[in-house]
Amino acid sequence: MMKNLIHDFDEGSINICQICNSENLDLVIHLGHQPLANTFLDENSYNKETVKLYPINVLRCCNCGLVQIDQIVKQRDVYHPGYPYIPSITGLVDFQQKEFAQNCFESLNLKKGDLVIDVGSNDGNLLNYFKELGCRVVGVEPTSTYKIAKKKGIKTYNDFFNEKIAKKIVSLHGKAKLITATNVFAHMSTMGSVMRSIDLLLDKNSFFVFENHYLGNVIKDMQYDTFYHEHLRTYSAHSLKFLFNYYKLNFYNAYKVPRYGGSLRCFVSNNKSLKKSDSLKKIIKNEQNWLFSKTHFNIFKNHIIESRNKLKDKIYQIKNKKQSLVGKACPARAVVLLSYNNITKNELSYIAEQSTSLKLGLKIPSLNIPIIDSEILMKDKPDYILLLAWHLKKPIINKWRSRGLKSKFIVPLPNLQII
Ligand SMILES: [Zn+2]
Repeated sequence: MMKNLIHDFDEGSINICQICNSENLDLVIHLGHQPLANTFLDENSYNKETVKLYPINVLRCCNCGLVQIDQIVKQRDVYHPGYPYIPSITGLVDFQQKEFAQNCFESLNLKKGDLVIDVGSNDGNLLNYFKELGCRVVGVEPTSTYKIAKKKGIKTYNDFFNEKIAKKIVSLHGKAKLITATNVFAHMSTMGSVMRSIDLLLDKNSFFVFENHYLGNVIKDMQYDTFYHEHLRTYSAHSLKFLFNYYKLNFYNAYKVPRYGGSLRCFVSNNKSLKKSDSLKKIIKNEQNWLFSKTHFNIFKNHIIESRNKLKDKIYQIKNKKQSLVGKACPARAVVLLSYNNITKNELSYIAEQSTSLKLGLKIPSLNIPIIDSEILMKDKPDYILLLAWHLKKPIINKWRSRGLKSKFIVPLPNLQII
């Protein structure tokens, strides 16, 4: 019998694998000390002394193939009441949430009246689509964005997902046919509690479907800027197989989806008779070629360092010629890219962000770069724009070109490009 594994971690540094608890961990890269990626500061609270920086060491487990960061920040500090991320303001993410709901409804043969629970339900964007399909819906969301969901009429508990909430949901709403988690399951430091809560909530023949950044894409597409304190784990299919085996759940299907520059959508069920899909078998087989190769991760590391040198050179040239440089778009990953490359207000006058963003008027902690409404680009016409949401380069560049903006865009990754 397998020994009991630790899956609930307190804040602080961890030196064992968050899934298999192996101590056989290899450093992939150290990304320096960084502020929390979703904690922006307003004029009043801005004060250098109050900005906490935390190390980002990326480690890989040589036993199960998980990639993780080795520092857990107190969850209440990460998911604070003012947490500024809302998926529905990004048209593309909204479209993907709709597709996710429709896909689950059809492929899992959900019926009207089935209970769907979304973990980390944010503003209720995903649940609203399940509601339109006739499902009963319940959300669990620890930040203040739950208030937006409530206004939309989405039943939401303002709390972290744990056994206490799970028991309450079962007693008030019954068991769930489907539990979902989009861009959440890699984030929680209390994964053991999450797994036990899922166990309490799943009805017979029920499903847990989640999406997260996929390690294969993170490496292939150089998305090192997805390593921040919210993303405690970056999953491979191997590591997930290990995890769900341990909890006696059937991880039977997974396939890649484009969200956030490359995610894995995973299907798990307590129905043991569901056969493994060809797509999942193919992903696992492909991972065998690189997941346990030190060389593969070394190449990744060298590529990250090289990309930093190229970007710094380019910025140096621009500054040398006294040309203007600003940033465009402020996803959480922007803070990682800017911090790792040590780009501050001296290099970037401001970051232009869409007018619906909750980040407008705030500043990037420790780098001191203000975030302002992107309409300013049409007035300012800067020489260069550093594209921080580089994984969305096509729609963003097309939009501004169609409005007649001629500034040159610097796409920093996967390879530096000037467009
Ligand atoms: Zn492991």
